[in-house]
Order: sequence, then structure tokens, then C-alpha cells
Amino acid sequence: IGSQKDRVVTEEEWLQKWETGNIGFHKEHGHPLLQKYLDVLLNGRSGLKIFFPLCGKAVEMKWLADMGHSVVGVEVSEQALKDFFTEHNLPYFEEPVPEISGAKVLQSTSGNISLYCCSIYDLSSSIVGKFDGVWDRGALVAVNPRDRQRYVSLMITLMEKKSSYLLVTVSYDPSKHKGPPFYVPESEIKSLFGNHCEIKCLQKVDDFSEKHRQWGLDYFLEVIYILKFAA
Ligand code: SAH
Repeated sequence: IGSQKDRVVTEEEWLQKWETGNIGFHKEHGHPLLQKYLDVLLNGRSGLKIFFPLCGKAVEMKWLADMGHSVVGVEVSEQALKDFFTEHNLPYFEEPVPEISGAKVLQSTSGNISLYCCSIYDLSSSIVGKFDGVWDRGALVAVNPRDRQRYVSLMITLMEKKSSYLLVTVSYDPSKHKGPPFYVPESEIKSLFGNHCEIKCLQKVDDFSEKHRQWGLDYFLEVIYILKFAA
């Protein structure tokens, strides 16, 4: 959207947010929309391989792993990933990722959580495989607007046949706040993903809070979609 399309948040700025604890996006108790729509994501299946792009230290990764799914995340901040394992008392080990220079993967000793410390743009299906499900919250909306097409094209290459993708976007007046999170309208979701999957808007939720009022906004919605990839 006009006022946001040239805005760039650098990797350095994200690392800075983690260093200074400026992580208002983190939800300590997990996201209510994942609880609510988990069945839509799983669609009766068990033992899925689930991807968390731009994962931060999302606690939902622990939930899904505890349910028997295997979880893969990617995040530029090593601190976020270490905090995740430490805060859940999960033992983990680190390994380099030979295909990506400077990258490492932090894995739970139990083996079902693998978190890549690198930029998502360094990943490919030859490194991480393909996924049965995706939880995209604070991910597409955190991607710089100029990189959205690249992000979505990559995500599509990571989707298994018959996979499902829960996508949470936000809606507010983008002339009043520079983001992130960035406003991604439904029309853009359709043009980004539309040729590759079926898209259904599940719900729009009023999420307006004092934080948003301080940003200068007078409304703030979360919009959740399910994207279904074909057989
Ligand atoms: N999804 C998480 C975090 C949202 S904030 C949640 O809902 O809590 C966005 C996160 O993306 C930040 O932790 C930031 O460090 C990370 N990030 C930003 N650009 C990235 C990139 N190119 N590759 C991987 N992670 C990135």
C-alpha cells in the first residue's frame, strides 16, 4: 500500500529489537487463533511437518511438537531461538548448515523441533524439505513490502501436496502507522497466492489495544485465512 511500499526494516534492526527486548509482537501465551483453527490446519491428520517462517520464539512451536508434529522454524535472531529452548526447558544442540554459509540449526534433543538461524531467503526445499502445514503469524506481515513476492514464491515451493497454510494478516489505516506489521489487503493475498491454492478468509477479529492507539490508529483487525494447496 502506497505509504508503506518502500519501507525497509533491516536484519540489523530486527536483531536490535531482540537485543533491547523491543518484542511487543511476542505472545507469551500463544495465539488464540491457532487454538481456534488448529483443526482446520490439521484437517484430521497427525504427525505433520509444520513450518513456522520468521518464528521468533513463538510458543506455538512447543504446542505442536508436544502434539507429535515435527516443527521447523527460521529466524535471523539467534537470541530468539536460544530464548525459545531455554524458556521451555528444552535441551538442544547446534549444528552448522553446510548448504548455507554462516547458518546453523538449533535442534531439540528429542529431535522434533529444528530451528534454522539464517534468513528465510537462504532456505530451499532441498535444505528443509516440504511442509504439510504452515503457521504464518507475524511473518508475511513482517516481510518488507518490496520482498513480499519473493517471500510468497519461496513459501509456495515449500508446500507439500494437499498441505494447508494458516495465514494471519493485520488490517489498519496504513497512512497512520509505518509498520511492521505491514498492512496486507485481501486483494494482495489473492494476487500473491491465488494461482497456487484455494483461499478462504476464516475470520476478522478486532484486536485494537492501547498499543495501537499509541501508534495513532483508531482500529486494528487481525484477519485469518486458510490456504489449501491441491493434491
Ligand atoms: N512469528 C513470530 C515473530 C514475529 S516478528 C511471532 O509471531 O511471535 C518477525 C520476526 O522475523 C522477528 O523475530 C525477526 O527477527 C524475524 N525476521 C525478520 N526478517 C527475517 C528474515 N529475512 N529471515 C528470518 N527471520 C526474519
